[in-house]
Amino acid sequence: MMQKIPARNLNSEDLDSRVFNLYEKREKIFTRSIEGFFQRIRLFTGWPLLLGYFLLPWINLDERQAVLFDLPARKFYVLWLTFWPQDFVLLGWLLAIAAFALFFVTTLWGRVWCGYTCPQTVWTAIFMWAEQIAEGDRNQRIKLDKQPSLLSSKGWNRTGFNKTWRRVFKHSMWFGFAALTGVTFIGYFYPIRDLISDALQWQLPLIAVAWCVFFTLATYINAGWLREQVCIYMCPYARFQSAMFDRNTLVISYDTARGEQRGARRRNTDYKAEGLGDCIDCTMCVQVCPTGIDIRDGLQFQCIGCAACIDACDGIMDKMGYQRGLISYTTENKLAGGSWTWKRPKLIGYGVAMLVMCVLFVVVLWNRVPLTLEVMRDRASLYQQLSDGRIENVYRLRIINMDAQDREFGISLEGLSDFSMIPDQTVVVGTGEVRDLLLRVQADPASLQSFNQDIVFVIQESNGALRAESESRFIAPSSSVNSNQGRAQ
Ligand code: SF4
Ligand code: SF4
Repeated sequence: MMQKIPARNLNSEDLDSRVFNLYEKREKIFTRSIEGFFQRIRLFTGWPLLLGYFLLPWINLDERQAVLFDLPARKFYVLWLTFWPQDFVLLGWLLAIAAFALFFVTTLWGRVWCGYTCPQTVWTAIFMWAEQIAEGDRNQRIKLDKQPSLLSSKGWNRTGFNKTWRRVFKHSMWFGFAALTGVTFIGYFYPIRDLISDALQWQLPLIAVAWCVFFTLATYINAGWLREQVCIYMCPYARFQSAMFDRNTLVISYDTARGEQRGARRRNTDYKAEGLGDCIDCTMCVQVCPTGIDIRDGLQFQCIGCAACIDACDGIMDKMGYQRGLISYTTENKLAGGSWTWKRPKLIGYGVAMLVMCVLFVVVLWNRVPLTLEVMRDRASLYQQLSDGRIENVYRLRIINMDAQDREFGISLEGLSDFSMIPDQTVVVGTGEVRDLLLRVQADPASLQSFNQDIVFVIQESNGALRAESESRFIAPSSSVNSNQGRAQ
């Protein structure tokens, strides 16, 4: 008969012998909470992330929200900078830098992103903390889970009251935190003060309500119900991270040579004489694991690198009077008796690519001109011949001031020698304003070299600080230009 092994406990031998069940029911994981060095580090990474996420939308700069992605206005405010759709190339660049930074960090330190700063890890930790407040520690939760509910299949059950109120309390806390997360997320797209006041006055647009509900439910389901399933089955990063690992990547490993033969023993006994290693087989490392795996089975893709098993095992080693580090951050090379080195083509390649992209990004950002000029020819007519013989072309100019202050621009034209512009004056464009102008250009046909002449519109501040230009064409009847050329010959 085929042996069934839970998917999370599979090792390479099982895969080889094909003895696993692909359609197994999800096993409940009752994670034991643990304290220790690495859990304290997680506090220093998780709390700033949480505080930053919840407080950032409430910070104002220059009388506007410091970080706001204003989709209807197509403007993205990030601190003192305003980005427009034209700047999307910068966003793409930023994403590429973030990807290379992730590759670099993963090659160097393994899955530190997953273990310490991934929102799924941080939010799940908050939900687990709420679960512990409502239902108690691991043993109490296991016991509670076995109790009947208030309304069981056998009908009304008075003993289930304890379980029911605790569950209601837990889900209320989960839902409250999920709602806070969802509303805050929408506050990055809809000014958060308006969002709250509109909601209190029942004037929130339906689309904003729908997105708040969507993100609330997404948080509640991901961090409350799915938890490790997101890391194991949904996150693509877990699947391709092994491509970035090498023998010098920092991973969390169990020292098999030191730990085996595992087995229970009394304190202060000569366990080595009994053929035992340092692992007392207490399973604490499994009980604290948020993904429910046993690190003693070797490196597994389900391991999110949270280091809870290191803290748990170090605590056991202290109690037993053994040296810490049976489970530790180490590398494959070190485990095999070698030493760590940074001279690795993959690591250097990712590092150089990231640095070059960062420098180029800063240069582009530094030289970015927060001004755009678009010129469109009037579609109603190609040209118009005026009573005094001059030719008139009409253009629509669109000036976008992406700067943080109002600007005054002069408009000039290059490519024509004898012409006039109506209106011929400076134009003031407010910060973040899109100004449309109708401009008439009248030229003497005697001054034209071609009936379809290249011209360039230029807008420039009087002090020359901001300048933008846009090409167009001046069109005249070919007969007027031909006769002009004939006279010239
Ligand atoms: S916590 Fe340490 S001692 Fe206990 S089972 Fe895990 S590896 Fe062995
Ligand atoms: S094996 Fe250890 S580091 Fe990996 S997820 Fe489990 S507890 Fe965290």
